[in-house]
Amino acid sequence: MITTEVRCKSLLNPSKLAVYCVNPYVGCQHACSYCYANPITRRFSRHPEAWGEFVDIKVNAPEVLRNEIPKKTKGQVFVSSLTDAYQPLEKKYELTRKLLEILLEKQFPVCIQTKSSLVARDIDLLKKFNEREVGFTIITLDESVKKNFEPFSSPIKERLDALKVLQENGIETYIFAGPVLPHITDKDVEELVRTASELKVDYMWFDKLNLKLGVWDNVQQILQKSYPQLLPVWKEIFFSKNDYYSKLKERITKLCREKNVKFRFCY
Ligand code: SF4
Repeated sequence: MITTEVRCKSLLNPSKLAVYCVNPYVGCQHACSYCYANPITRRFSRHPEAWGEFVDIKVNAPEVLRNEIPKKTKGQVFVSSLTDAYQPLEKKYELTRKLLEILLEKQFPVCIQTKSSLVARDIDLLKKFNEREVGFTIITLDESVKKNFEPFSSPIKERLDALKVLQENGIETYIFAGPVLPHITDKDVEELVRTASELKVDYMWFDKLNLKLGVWDNVQQILQKSYPQLLPVWKEIFFSKNDYYSKLKERITKLCREKNVKFRFCY
């Protein structure tokens, strides 16, 4: 793992996911094979290392945000869009925590999406925001599947425990069940909806696998190694006209309605 302390010029940037986003790190230790941030990040950073094996740490991020924020109109901030703001390095650097402290001073609403239970560390700050929500990406309840596709994210049980603690502390929460992986994680959808219902999360998001930007090359390697029998099936789903994801949508809609779970689709 190559970690480099860097200085950034700007931090609070416009986003399609909210009004703004902040990304205190470049690169992500979680190393998910389906990560679209991998090819995007490589467009502006020249790291030759494999995804998950480099992280640039924007050590002056709090200072930059403090300078930027008085010049910006208040709006929701997505934390974060091209990396996980609670990846393991955050434990040491506490950049995300410092950014939250600054956003809290001005009561900028925040939406945090993570695969790490470390977010529960910042409950004390989150409780003081007028508007905040925390989403946990959980694509499967099967730890061995998790290890194949997102090897270094928090164990699923830890994420669910953290979600429960946040929920108990009055923080709005959601589960981002995406991407749903055909014939691998689609079996877990029922259980995920049931879990969301039991934990009383505010809503769920569902997404399909987005193969743009070279993601196929990365997931194909996992398929070849762990699910070779699915290679032709996936090629059929992703490279020919196919109703797999529209049928999945119908199934998810039915399941969520049965369990009274609010839901949204990204596709
Ligand atoms: S946690 Fe998010 S940003 Fe990090 S590797 Fe996984 S998908 Fe990419």
